[in-house]
Amino acid sequence: MRYVSTRGDAPILGFDDVLLAGLARDGGLYMPESWPRFTPADWKAMAGLSYAETAFRVLKPFVGGTIADSDLQRMIEDAYRGFGHPAVAPLKQIGPNDWLLELFHGPTLAFKDFALQLVGRLFDHVLKQRNGRVTIVGATSGDTGSAAIEACRDRAAIDIFILHPHGRVSEVQRRQMTTVRSANVHNIAIEGTFDDCQDLVKAMFNDTAFRDRMRLSAVNSINWVRVAAQIVYYVFAALRLGAPARPVAFSVPTGNFGNVLAAYAAHRMGLPIPGLVIGSNRNDILFRLIQTGTMKMEEVAPTLSPSMDIQISSNLERLLFELAGRNGKTVQAMMKRFRKRRELTLSPPRYGRLTKMFSAARADDAETVAIIRRVHETTGELIDPHTAVGLAAAAARRGDTAVPMVTVATAHPAKFPDAVEQATGLRPALPARLADLLQRPERVTVLPNDLRAVQDFVSGRVSIAA
Ligand SMILES: *Cc1c(COP(=O)(O)O)cnc(C)c1O
Repeated sequence: MRYVSTRGDAPILGFDDVLLAGLARDGGLYMPESWPRFTPADWKAMAGLSYAETAFRVLKPFVGGTIADSDLQRMIEDAYRGFGHPAVAPLKQIGPNDWLLELFHGPTLAFKDFALQLVGRLFDHVLKQRNGRVTIVGATSGDTGSAAIEACRDRAAIDIFILHPHGRVSEVQRRQMTTVRSANVHNIAIEGTFDDCQDLVKAMFNDTAFRDRMRLSAVNSINWVRVAAQIVYYVFAALRLGAPARPVAFSVPTGNFGNVLAAYAAHRMGLPIPGLVIGSNRNDILFRLIQTGTMKMEEVAPTLSPSMDIQISSNLERLLFELAGRNGKTVQAMMKRFRKRRELTLSPPRYGRLTKMFSAARADDAETVAIIRRVHETTGELIDPHTAVGLAAAAARRGDTAVPMVTVATAHPAKFPDAVEQATGLRPALPARLADLLQRPERVTVLPNDLRAVQDFVSGRVSIAA
């Protein structure tokens, strides 16, 4: 399997190089040169397999022999062994033919663990084989930082530095980062905002001498391998609900478009998915694109589902590549126009291809709270606000009721206890394995919003021999 850039001007790479590269050199995103296809007989042969076995079958064609099967199998088993539910990604019925796919049983209680737990291991493995190492730096407003830290902790070839805005992340989110005591994990609380943190990270990458000396790297959501790892749970859920004999629809609360893109990839691989529903909060650029064919940038508004408070969905470029017949030059022109005019209109045939597969609905904070309350009243389940946005979209765009509708539950309700309490009067408890989180000692360094101070800290702590 080889990978090409969505902008058509970067070197064609194998899986291991795509893993380490992240972004392509022409500014595009890597995509498989062609989709692996599974026949109905292939899917049938996978029914009843464990999550880890399913993951191995789904990921093998993407890895394309760049990692030995036995190593891949071992890393997959390791990655999902620590999940807090024996099914790894359990399905829960919440309506006549309506289901939740619970993706929050990983170490940090959100779906990003599914990709990052594996990506951290793959990074370490490939780097060790090459005698290399990296320093991962990232900024977080909450969720991604803890998932990246859990994925990279104790990995010999990696140091990780995560910047968060001092005093501006929730206590649970902060403690999920600062109570990890591995020597290669460094938490920095910046006296500033999340935007200041992001600017500092960008500035560190833009300082090429520093970047090369520290071997800076990122594990952000544009990395193809994160998308690939997320394909697995769509396959796993659809097979449990009767695919390939029976089609299965999904509703996905979306920010960067990464999670729903993985569902689209499963469809391209031959999984019978008749439609995908996108759930947006007030930051609704994707909803507007699907309603009108025009994508227009607006300001970001804070909501109860903060992990979706994004205006530019970076992974959308991968779908544009598909809609444009996989023509890199066309995508390059589209992205250039979008950056310049902050607006992009799809041609009628491309818009037609988009709406053939995708529909979308939007929920504001009041609706989000109303859905959390209703689900609790009708099923007894507590759901998180991101999941609620997905459920709102599923209800608004429900097609054939004979087709199972699966909404992906992206976070555990205890990660967003205030919204859940506001809706239901109940404060969800953390799972037992995290029950003592609020008592664990923290390790964090507070630094001023100053590039030199942060760079000095990184170079002083990093284990790379200069
Ligand atoms: C990151 C995140 C999302 C959005 O996922 P994308 O891949 O960016 O669409 C939704 N819900 C939760 C809880 C998240 O952490």
